[in-house]
Amino acid sequence: MAYDASRNPSQDVRERIYLPELLRGLAVTTRHFLRNLFGQRDTNASVLNRKGRSLVTTVQYPEERVAYPPGYRGLHRLVPREDGKPRCVACYMCATVCPAQCIYIEAGEYDPADSSAASRVIEKFPTTFVIDELRCIVCGLCVEACPKDAIRMDTATHAPSEYTRQGFVYDIPKLLNGPPVSHSSDPWKRRESSEAPEHQALEPHTRIGET
Ligand code: SF4
Ligand code: SF4
Repeated sequence: MAYDASRNPSQDVRERIYLPELLRGLAVTTRHFLRNLFGQRDTNASVLNRKGRSLVTTVQYPEERVAYPPGYRGLHRLVPREDGKPRCVACYMCATVCPAQCIYIEAGEYDPADSSAASRVIEKFPTTFVIDELRCIVCGLCVEACPKDAIRMDTATHAPSEYTRQGFVYDIPKLLNGPPVSHSSDPWKRRESSEAPEHQALEPHTRIGET
């Protein structure tokens, strides 16, 4: 049944006459208009990049940006190792979990004869790693699924405008950015080679670390 506003018991006579409330609304609108025209912006800390002396309330996007909250899932990035290569080991877990199927990976294998420290432990790396940011639904499951902290959405920005759909397909050079990240659990720090794991061989059903 439709709501009957005339039966609202909270309405006093002034509201039911209607005209005083109409004038009050106009006064509020006029106050904000004049404040924006001549006044100064309120000191809202969430507005970044303020410029000039015109401190009005309206955010002049895109010249001014409202700061995103800390947990905002922004544009993807591939996290680099200390040697500048992606931390990604091409395990396909992010591509598998992605509900929008917008991650495409092709894996390459390190040459066992390569003497670099990472290649003796890491077997695979991405030769192709692309994300179609137009198809992405920004769910963050790829970040959650990654076992190597190799993909993050902490850029606090979103994909900029492009003239073509292809421009939204981000490849490794576009994705790889940010400071290098290393963890004490990184296998290339704990093991000499992929054939020599640090842990002792245990009974089949005993977890590593249990005695
Ligand atoms: S945020 Fe979600 S939809 Fe976007 S690439 Fe990651 S898993 Fe796929
Ligand atoms: S889950 Fe992580 S390590 Fe695996 S392919 Fe994706 S980004 Fe690379």
